[in-house]
Amino acid sequence: MAKSNRRSFLQTSAWAGAGVVTGAVALNKLSPRIWHEEMRFEPNHSYWAQSQAPPNPPLAGDIEVDVAIIGGGLTGLSTAYFIRRNSPSKSVVVLEAMGCGNGASGRNGAMLLNMTADRYMNLSPDPAMDKKIYELTSENIRFLKSLPAATGVDFEIDTNGSLQVSNTASDVADCKAYVEKAQTLGIPVEFWDKEQTATAVGTRIYEGAFYDPNSGQLHPMKLVHAFKTIAETSGARIYENTPVTRIEEGATHRISTQSGQAVRAKSLVLATNAYTSQLGYFRNRIAPIHNYSREFRSKLPGAGWSIARSIFPRRSAAPENSRIFITAWVIAATV
Ligand SMILES: Cc1cc2nc3c(=O)[nH]c(=O)nc-3n(C[C@H](O)[C@H](O)[C@H](O)COP(=O)(O)OP(=O)(O)OC[C@H]3O[C@@H](n4cnc5c(N)ncnc54)[C@H](O)[C@@H]3O)c2cc1C
Repeated sequence: MAKSNRRSFLQTSAWAGAGVVTGAVALNKLSPRIWHEEMRFEPNHSYWAQSQAPPNPPLAGDIEVDVAIIGGGLTGLSTAYFIRRNSPSKSVVVLEAMGCGNGASGRNGAMLLNMTADRYMNLSPDPAMDKKIYELTSENIRFLKSLPAATGVDFEIDTNGSLQVSNTASDVADCKAYVEKAQTLGIPVEFWDKEQTATAVGTRIYEGAFYDPNSGQLHPMKLVHAFKTIAETSGARIYENTPVTRIEEGATHRISTQSGQAVRAKSLVLATNAYTSQLGYFRNRIAPIHNYSREFRSKLPGAGWSIARSIFPRRSAAPENSRIFITAWVIAATV
């Protein structure tokens, strides 16, 4: 090929490549407007769902509010409560597609742990921030402990601590190293050897454990009920069985619901977790995964939960490398 032909071929290819990339980016941005994702909310059939509070009536007419929160899980309900507590003059509504707690908040592992997911047994290069996060999450647990008295809803919170059990010598080494560093920051966690761990969990298969005395477990759906109660008591209005189908953003946002009502709101909170892309936000950034938990209950007559207590006397939550969770409520294997 002559030199000038090759240059023009390369130039054309570069333009064509840039065109394809620009087209793909534009299509990606426009796709939520062109292809609407199907709205799907699977009913919650978990063990916890048996304790779901009766739903409030759906939204029955058009309304105008200061803040509209979409999603009645822990994020939506606690946001409603804290906005009303800090700004009592603001009108706040929560719009929930099914019943409050239908999502992850009412079907989770019941563990009440300190730290954030990325810092769990994993200190960052910023020790002061790590300590702050531990203190903040412990303070949050203390706040939760005050909720049964404030709401009259007993969500069976128990702060007997949690154990992260170790199966191998290398897990034990990591665990010891973590505990040593955390203790120098004043974080009151402990390493438990094989004997101590066996006494707590009733089996000698584990080599040791990480113990955090400031954590525990609770009943997730009853916790949702407690947050629904304080959100309503604080003055927020909650409408259930009210799926939001469309959001038109503006100085005042227009939020349309499946049954045809509209909410006009100055501020909008998306507390929709894994369902957010169904509303056209964070498309291609959220990948819902399905995780199954199996609950086993004693079939022994009259034994009830006491059988769990008998094999697990301390009643602490104990995750094992994300495969097995043992709590005094359930013994569950996840896949
Ligand atoms: C399997 C599993 C185990 C977990 N275990 C633990 C644990 O042991 N301890 C722990 O602390 N955390 C655990 N988590 C995490 C915890 O459950 C979640 O972080 C938390 O519940 C998220 O709350 P949320 O309110 O943000 O979301 P969700 O509870 O999912 O609430 C979102 C709500 O929005 C509603 N919604 C969505 N779209 C719309 C719409 N268009 N219109 C109206 N409503 C809508 C949904 O119906 C839903 O009720 C676990 C999570 C999972 C999935």
